[in-house]
Amino acid sequence: MNFVEEGNKYLVGNYSRFPVSFEKGEGVYLYDTEGKKYLDFLAGIAVNTLGYNHPKLTNAICEQSKKLLHVSNLFYIQPQINVAKILVENSSGDKVFFSNSGAEANEAAIKMVRKYFYDKGQHKYEMITFKGGFHGRTLKTLAATAQPKYHEGFEPLPEGFRYAEFNNIKSVKENISSKTAAVMIELIQGEGGINPADKEFVNELYNLCKQEDILFVVDEVQTGIGRTGKIFAYQHYGIEPDIITSAKGLGGGIPIGATIAKEEVAKSLTPGTHGSTFGGNYIASVSAEVVLKEITKPEFLEKVSKNGKYLAERLKEFNFNVKGIGLMVGMDLPENINASEIVKKSLENGLILGTAGKNTLRFVPPLVINEKEIDEGIDILKKVLTWFGVNYA
Ligand code: PLP
Repeated sequence: MNFVEEGNKYLVGNYSRFPVSFEKGEGVYLYDTEGKKYLDFLAGIAVNTLGYNHPKLTNAICEQSKKLLHVSNLFYIQPQINVAKILVENSSGDKVFFSNSGAEANEAAIKMVRKYFYDKGQHKYEMITFKGGFHGRTLKTLAATAQPKYHEGFEPLPEGFRYAEFNNIKSVKENISSKTAAVMIELIQGEGGINPADKEFVNELYNLCKQEDILFVVDEVQTGIGRTGKIFAYQHYGIEPDIITSAKGLGGGIPIGATIAKEEVAKSLTPGTHGSTFGGNYIASVSAEVVLKEITKPEFLEKVSKNGKYLAERLKEFNFNVKGIGLMVGMDLPENINASEIVKKSLENGLILGTAGKNTLRFVPPLVINEKEIDEGIDILKKVLTWFGVNYA
């Protein structure tokens, strides 16, 4: 049996997988089991911040694995404290809770919100989230995800979520009730199609939340950790969220999630109210520490911004709508060109891409990508799009 047959025999069929299996990676390149080389513009879906086989990350993981992998959160874990310190020093938060994924980071945020108002003796538990948003696959984060296609077959979903139109303050106001506890927003909707929130909308939303005693939660699972050229995307908007959630790029490929909250909100999670066996263990934390030390260098973030602009400029040569911030870029395709088909054909030609939303190509390469590698990807994409009849000259 080859890996496709064997995989289909033993794995739950909840993913549509390409018939490719990778063996190793180096920088922004991956190599499959046949030795074929691929340029990676997807980075494990916005995860592999430092690319593949980054010497500092690989070394830190190897060295830590010789000492300790895991001991539990019944003890203090120095690398976890180090990561929390860096996150706090670089955000509006004061305290950090660690988990293993984006969905878990958001679950913790939802629990914090509820417990915060419970402790204040207020019966406020509803959260306003946004149509086209994505917050995870656990039942609660699914309920927070205002996209019916993900709900089908899983109802009844937990209650307590209201869905507003993205970039529409009137719609938010219409959804506020006496029970509204928080809004949760992706400042650039990732899965929804790489849709950035308008600055004016975010400012109005932020002020509205302040006026109405509503907590402001940003889901930075995809946008955070340098992806947009700032450590967190909210830093482009001049706001100070009450809770920030992070995962994906934080561990550079090792699973780790973080819920970063202001002191008064964080203190609602007292001993026994929440937890995670693995959250922020040694191996995950040393990885996150390396990633954070790299991305917090100003020259690193400057390069992300510069290369992000370069990627967007190059993509504009196709004359389609290009959107996003930093190295989180989307290109809308017309209806007659299927984004999934482009992804398939690009893969055959050695370029790994993703899709998002209705018919958008998603570009979220490792943050260490350079101009030459971007050019190489654009050349492949030009070849592929030409087959589909696109004129880019
Ligand atoms: N939030 C956002 C914005 C995401 O993009 C994702 C994953 O795509 C999640 C949450 C869920 O993260 P995970 O798959 O790690 O649970």
